[in-house]
Amino acid sequence: RAKALGKSRFEVFAAGMLTEAVNRLQLESDLISALDNHEFLLYYQPIINLKTGALAGFEALVRWHQKDRGFVLPSAFIPAAEETGLIMALGQWIFREACQQLHQWHTLLPQYRHLTMSINLSNRQFGQTDLVSQIEAALKETQVDGHCIRLEITESMVMGDVDAAIDLMLKLKSLDLKLAIDDFGTGYSSLSYLHRFPMDTLKVDKSFVGRLEKSNEDRAIINTILTLGQKLGMEVVAEGVETATQVAMLQQEGCDYGQGYFFAKPLPADEALNLLRQHQPLGC
Ligand code: C2E
Ligand code: MG
Ligand code: MG
Ligand code: MG
Repeated sequence: RAKALGKSRFEVFAAGMLTEAVNRLQLESDLISALDNHEFLLYYQPIINLKTGALAGFEALVRWHQKDRGFVLPSAFIPAAEETGLIMALGQWIFREACQQLHQWHTLLPQYRHLTMSINLSNRQFGQTDLVSQIEAALKETQVDGHCIRLEITESMVMGDVDAAIDLMLKLKSLDLKLAIDDFGTGYSSLSYLHRFPMDTLKVDKSFVGRLEKSNEDRAIINTILTLGQKLGMEVVAEGVETATQVAMLQQEGCDYGQGYFFAKPLPADEALNLLRQHQPLGC
């Protein structure tokens, strides 16, 4: 009896694995045609200056609009895009699209000429040999000012070969770009290297912000991260800001920028433009 049960369990398990593999293959084949079919689009989430309430910039966040699946979030397809290598072409499209969008907003609204655009890089893109020349070409073609672009890099990307990573960062910075360390505090701690990285911005991961109201210890952790960023001459952005209390606490702690649902969700380009046109300091 035990044996029979074991066998049927094995079959269920195997069938589950097969379904998963088939789903994965389907996802990958859908992904491959997605770029040609123009199924990707960028959403833009505001980043707010916590001292003035001004809209300082946006982070570009990719979405996949697929006919059978609807809107797909990056967590559901970026890993497959990395594995298949599609991320190279997709990442290149994302960078160009975000630059084009920023250039358009700069042109339409000269009062926003300092508006920034933050663009995420994936692990595989960071290791790509022609990354610098690709970015240089895209900046030139879209005529956007490099210093308004912030490339977001995570800790895990730079912790392998630290010297090679620093070399690459310096090359990117020679294009007049700014660099941000994303999801800070969640990866392998790079505390001993952080001062060597030519980073301009530190983004405190939303998990820390989410715990701000829970305890004094969590508040002390944010405070320490802010002090660290400030001591290293970096601007600090708090991610995942969801409540007015969090905004008040972050302001008290001297955090420069905030990003999160409290201010706005990631928005399609036309809604982001409306927001810019309203010209109101948001939520502060
Ligand atoms: P991330 O770069 O840390 O982006 C911030 C994520 O937090 C976004 O999720 C955003 O929608 C979400 N978020 C913003 N405010 C709040 C909030 O108040 N509360 C909560 N709970 N979440 C908030 P999204 O768009 O699903 O992206 C997830 C991750 O996927 C990103 O994390 C980034 O690592 C990756 N990703 C997104 N777009 C791109 C892209 O264009 N290229 C690459 N390589 N990766 C991307
Ligand atoms: Mg990011
Ligand atoms: Mg982040
Ligand atoms: Mg994150």
